[in-house]
Amino acid sequence: MKHLSIADPEICNLVLQEERRQSEKIRMIASENYVSRAVLEATGSVLTNKYSEGYAGKRYYEGQQIIDQVESLAIERAKQVFGAEHVNVQPYSGSPANVAVYLAFLNPGDTILGMALPHGGHLTHGAPVSISGRYFNAQSYELDRDTGLLDYGKIRDKALALRPKLLIAGHSAYPRILDFAKFREIADEAGALLMVDMAHFAGLVAGGVHPSPVPFADVVTTTTHKSLRGPRGAMIMCRSRHAAAIDKAVFPGMQGGPHDNTTAAIAVALREAASDDFKAYARQVVKNAKTLAEGLMAKGFKLITNGTDNHLMLVDLGNKGIAGKKAARALDRAGIVVNCNAVPFDTRKPYDPSGIRLGTPALTSRGFKEKEMLVVANLVDRVIANADDEGLLAATAEEVRQMCSLFPAPGLEHLVEGR
Ligand SMILES: *Cc1c(COP(=O)(O)O)cnc(C)c1O
Repeated sequence: MKHLSIADPEICNLVLQEERRQSEKIRMIASENYVSRAVLEATGSVLTNKYSEGYAGKRYYEGQQIIDQVESLAIERAKQVFGAEHVNVQPYSGSPANVAVYLAFLNPGDTILGMALPHGGHLTHGAPVSISGRYFNAQSYELDRDTGLLDYGKIRDKALALRPKLLIAGHSAYPRILDFAKFREIADEAGALLMVDMAHFAGLVAGGVHPSPVPFADVVTTTTHKSLRGPRGAMIMCRSRHAAAIDKAVFPGMQGGPHDNTTAAIAVALREAASDDFKAYARQVVKNAKTLAEGLMAKGFKLITNGTDNHLMLVDLGNKGIAGKKAARALDRAGIVVNCNAVPFDTRKPYDPSGIRLGTPALTSRGFKEKEMLVVANLVDRVIANADDEGLLAATAEEVRQMCSLFPAPGLEHLVEGR
């Protein structure tokens, strides 16, 4: 980054520090990942200089000879990877993508039904602090108190009683696979449109290790930067009959010019996602999550639903005598980065809930396999049991650094000695 180092040493230094942090830590925030050098290069390209309001062939400004091809490629690749009839690759991120869907189908005050935020739903699925909760009559379904699982019977009862215009499936913290056929059935019975937000597990769908919501949902939204390993952005996929409404809602409804550099990077990520290597990656993400879950349970950790079949797990720390925030802070000092997270029916406050959420997409990107996941389970256990022992936390951080140096992270290979 020779130009940045001269033009702005302060920011350059901070970027370098963040590079080092990402290289030397065990990153298990379930929504994070490492993108490839190729995705980074496209993201940092001169495509950032272009304005291209509108869609390929129908732009408001001239000079779109190249951008039209970039966006069309991104769309074609998304259709290929996910089998979607129509794709919009312009949403700036996952939250605006969801709001665009609401703008396409709803009027203020209409009823929506989504998963409750403290049960693993997303803010944009109707949380009171979000625009989705303020502009709509937002109702929510919860997990079963005993099993921690979705109760489709209860969701159906709620949907039939409330008659929402839109039923929302998808989550940020649910460790199990969703039954999209069931959601479709409920939506049809209740006369609702079905939106699936696959932000978290899109990479697993692309890699063929998670069922696809695309054949079942009217609309599927996703971020591109989580398990899919693309740049920060989003896509909306829908049936052809909704194409015009969705496109109009994204532009001019919600947004101005698309971020063409991001669009290019999405295209790159989708090309990568279509490869056999990515299928192997997705399989390993799930295997790693299962192994980590088993390792933690063997150490007496209580996992919501007693395990996982996707890329993440939710640990209830109640039986360990430590709260989520304190555990997450101690882990961070020991070089292991997670987030504290509410567990279903949590009695503690959202800022300091009872649990932590752990995900394997980023660790898998740097080449961690089952063997390393068991080491990670041991480290997590040791830190949680000794959260106040600063010496042990520092020693663990050094151990983590050593371990990470054997698995250079994509885009950060140059930081590892001898490379
Ligand atoms: C992360 C996430 C989003 C929002 O994505 P942003 O890019 O942070 O706006 C939306 N829905 C779900 C389910 C998510 O997990």
